[in-house]
Amino acid sequence: MRTKTGEINEALPAGRRTKLVAYFCMEYGLASSFRIYCGGLGILAGDLLKSARDLGLPMVGIGLLWRQGYYRQMLDERGIPFPAYPTYRYDFLKDTGVKVKVVIRGRQVACRVWLVDRFGNAPRYLLDTDLPENEPADRWITGQLYGWFEEERVAQEMVLGIGGVRALRALGIDPDVYHFNEGHAVFAGLELIREYMQGLGLSFADAWRRTRERIVFTTHTPVKEGNEEHGHDLLRYMGADLGLTYGQMLRLGGDPFNMTVAGLRLARMANAVSRLHARTAGSMWAEVTGAAPIIAITNGVHLGTWQDERVARAARAKDPDELWRAHQLCKGELIEFIAGRTGVRLQENVLLIGFARRAASYKRGGLIFRRPEIIEPLLSSGRLQLVLAGKGHPLDDAGTDIVAGFTAVARRHPTSVVFLPDYDMEIGRLLTRGCDVWLNNPRRPMEACGTSGMKAAVNGVLNLSVLDGWWPEACEHGVNGWQFGDGYEGPDQDERDLEALYRVLCEEVIPCYYERPERWRTMMANSIASTAAAFSADRTLREYYELMYEVRDYIGG
Ligand SMILES: *Cc1c(COP(=O)(O)O)cnc(C)c1O
Repeated sequence: MRTKTGEINEALPAGRRTKLVAYFCMEYGLASSFRIYCGGLGILAGDLLKSARDLGLPMVGIGLLWRQGYYRQMLDERGIPFPAYPTYRYDFLKDTGVKVKVVIRGRQVACRVWLVDRFGNAPRYLLDTDLPENEPADRWITGQLYGWFEEERVAQEMVLGIGGVRALRALGIDPDVYHFNEGHAVFAGLELIREYMQGLGLSFADAWRRTRERIVFTTHTPVKEGNEEHGHDLLRYMGADLGLTYGQMLRLGGDPFNMTVAGLRLARMANAVSRLHARTAGSMWAEVTGAAPIIAITNGVHLGTWQDERVARAARAKDPDELWRAHQLCKGELIEFIAGRTGVRLQENVLLIGFARRAASYKRGGLIFRRPEIIEPLLSSGRLQLVLAGKGHPLDDAGTDIVAGFTAVARRHPTSVVFLPDYDMEIGRLLTRGCDVWLNNPRRPMEACGTSGMKAAVNGVLNLSVLDGWWPEACEHGVNGWQFGDGYEGPDQDERDLEALYRVLCEEVIPCYYERPERWRTMMANSIASTAAAFSADRTLREYYELMYEVRDYIGG
């Protein structure tokens, strides 16, 4: 197979990539204002559909039309975040005229199917239950992305999986491959089994085998508890089991029914989203009998969306001074944006570090602030500025505390630290091209991949990151960015990583920025050259075709 990320690209004869693929995902990030995404999972899905369109690959996306999307993050006067849920209407959706039905909680729920094709993406179909003929509770199934509680989540997943397959049938689309991006779509596998059993009269075992030949699965979550499970009683009450017996459901997903386990058993192949994550996922799911083999296909980003044109042009021209000017323009635009949103005007000639993440504990937001005696003098002496952003799940108190911690630091350092509320694709776009350094400090090995660092890297924004997710595949320390720590995993990991962060920051990053500008520009050019092709969504999608979609052999138990 491949030896190094990106190398297989040219070796692939284009004519072989003919498999029609239906890609299922709970969320899609195609444009900032089309608010049916939450974070990395959806933005990856959106980027892949754009690449499919760019490369002329036959892929369609299946998702849900979220009436309120993910919540909007507001701040109260003390700097504590709280959620808001505006409702959206979009005027660019095309009504396909197709409606499908799914029985949920014993009621027929109608789902309208919309087409979205205006963001340079491959066709994407969105199911929507907000129809007058549905009961009020059912109209809200496609209300809030990752909102509410377990019963609603199962209902949403039924619309995505079962409704999604029925929508494809009604649209006359017969995919060769069904790709489930995360476990949310596994009910689509049950619907395929049902079709084979009822339509062709196959036994459960034969129907399952035929279904597996057509499914591939991507797992994203290296934390066991992050992988969704549902009780069999609930699934039966909801109708998600589609008439399968308890014994059959047990063989697919265990008890309780684990969506990732079911995904691995319903697929002929599975992938993790970086090489390190493939190792983690492989040992995490090693006990699952009959699971698909998990290979590594590292995520990538859509360059047309995430790479600044001026930066790309300067990098192609191999002109370090032009690259610096392009970068400073991006930085200036970010500074303007921050001033407009917060009233704080940062300095163009002071090192600016960005940190924007989902506010989940393992990402260790705020690590850099843990030793005030080291960080505070840097912030108050005008040597360092920080811009922060991040949203936690609205029901997660730990996430709320992380964000409240950010806003508190910003208040203590009103001219050098800012918090931008409501992290979204627009903020992500500005930050990953306008900062000087992109900080990433998850607790290894819990960051499956991370894509914001790739967005930064392709813009010459230098990564300063622990060796987790994608970074071990790209990092050449002091050449195209920096690592801190040596990949150690253990009880005193936080302490060690913090020491290493301060050491690299104070001894390498800051001196390089202020004292060796030429070196800095060379590193920016190296960053772009080493990542733009290797961590592009084009490369990821080609690997999906080469290593999963086009692989005919049935593998697994
Ligand atoms: C790219 C992006 C992400 C994913 O980045 P991570 O590195 O996985 O945190 C999340 N949210 C937004 C808005 C993004 O643009």
